[in-house]
Amino acid sequence: MTVSDIKALLQQEGLTPNKALGQNFLADEGAARRIAEASGAVEYPVLEIGPGLGALTEMLLSVSPFVTAVEIDAAMVRVLQKRFGESSKFSLLHEDFLKTDLSSLSALQSGCAVAANLPYYVTTPICMKLLTSSLPIKSMALMLQKEAADRFFAQPSSRQYGPLSVLARHYYDVSPLMSLSPQSYYPQPEVDSSVILLTRKEDAEELPFLPRTLDAAFAMRRKTMLNNIKAAGFSKEETEALLTEAGIAPSARAEALPIEAFVQLASAWEIAIEA
Ligand code: SAM
Repeated sequence: MTVSDIKALLQQEGLTPNKALGQNFLADEGAARRIAEASGAVEYPVLEIGPGLGALTEMLLSVSPFVTAVEIDAAMVRVLQKRFGESSKFSLLHEDFLKTDLSSLSALQSGCAVAANLPYYVTTPICMKLLTSSLPIKSMALMLQKEAADRFFAQPSSRQYGPLSVLARHYYDVSPLMSLSPQSYYPQPEVDSSVILLTRKEDAEELPFLPRTLDAAFAMRRKTMLNNIKAAGFSKEETEALLTEAGIAPSARAEALPIEAFVQLASAWEIAIEA
């Protein structure tokens, strides 16, 4: 869709973009096509989060075997039904993605791709939900504010390094796909955006305790690992044993530790809980 397509559709439907829902519609057809093609949607059924007026959806429908889209805004859902409701390879859910039961999305359960121009106000929880879900996600193309994208690539000891960086790079190969300026949207956001690609590592160890390990380790960024892990409900002795097992100094801070240290700690935590 071009800027004039978007303006015309909004006018025809009597709508104005809802700022609170992060509605900056993609007005760059070249970018939409590249995202659709790079997301993995050609090979797998795709999940789109926040389809809006359908700028990316129409490209996904043109390349993918099936598109499942989740949109919170009733006005957008009405437009999407009009535009794509007849398609036999389109399923639309009117709900908050953060409340969506991903195990109920039947088209996606034997391997899927994810494509989204994410609403900025809820980018982190959506990404954390995707990264911790049990959906068999093979690849994702995510469009986010540049600052949010930087967190996927952040190295230890940088301000942006945190649970998102660790989870994403433990389970996926992460690479930049493209950068977009505000001119690629209507209405224009105030910041630059990036599209990143995540491709699942087939050999990534499944670590059910990694999310809670990261929650605990990064709970208070200025506190030591000893204090943060202890606060998750272990005694001092148990915490010291866990950290020794994972090769982590009790005085270390989470933000300085490499991904591998959290992997070791999540394994040790799982063994300790199951013992
Ligand atoms: N995909 C469209 C595009 O590229 O033009 C719209 C992208 S716009 C940045 C974000 C979309 O996400 C909006 O349509 C908004 O209504 C929707 N949205 C916001 N919060 C949501 C949530 N919690 N769950 C599902 N959709 C949401």
